[in-house]
Amino acid sequence: MALKIISGCINCGNCRHVCPTDTIHYYDTPDLQHTIDPIGCIDCQLCVDACPVEVIEPDSSYVHDPAELAAAKELAAEVWKERGPTIQTVLKVMRQRNARWAREREDRRDAPDRYRTGKRQP
Ligand code: SF4
Ligand code: SF4
Repeated sequence: MALKIISGCINCGNCRHVCPTDTIHYYDTPDLQHTIDPIGCIDCQLCVDACPVEVIEPDSSYVHDPAELAAAKELAAEVWKERGPTIQTVLKVMRQRNARWAREREDRRDAPDRYRTGKRQP
C-alpha cells in the first residue's frame, strides 16, 4: 500500500524530511504542493506522524509491482542506517508539537472567546 496527500496540505515539509525513501516531492506540481510518488512509498507511516494537519491517507488505488516495492524497501534500509537516528529525533519533536497544536485547535473550538483578542485569556 502507498500513501497519498489529500487537500488541506499546508506545505510545511515535515513529511518530506522524515521520509526514508525520499519519495515525497514538492517541486514537480504547478502549485508546488507536496505529493507522494507512490512508487517509492513503503507505507512506513512516518509521514503520517509528522503531518500537523492529518492530510496523509492510504492510496488504495495504487498497487505496487513487487520488484519496485522490494527496491524501495532496500533503499529505506540503506537510508535508515545513515539517517535513522536523526529522523527519529526530528520525528519526536514533530509528534510533540503536533499533539500540542491539536490540543490548541480543540481548545479554540471549545472556547473561542478566549482567543478573540488574539491573546489567550486566563
Ligand atoms: S509512508 Fe513512509 S515511505 Fe511512504 S511517503 Fe510516508 S514516509 Fe515516505
Ligand atoms: S506534513 Fe502534511 S501539511 Fe506538511 S507538507 Fe506534508 S502533507 Fe503537507
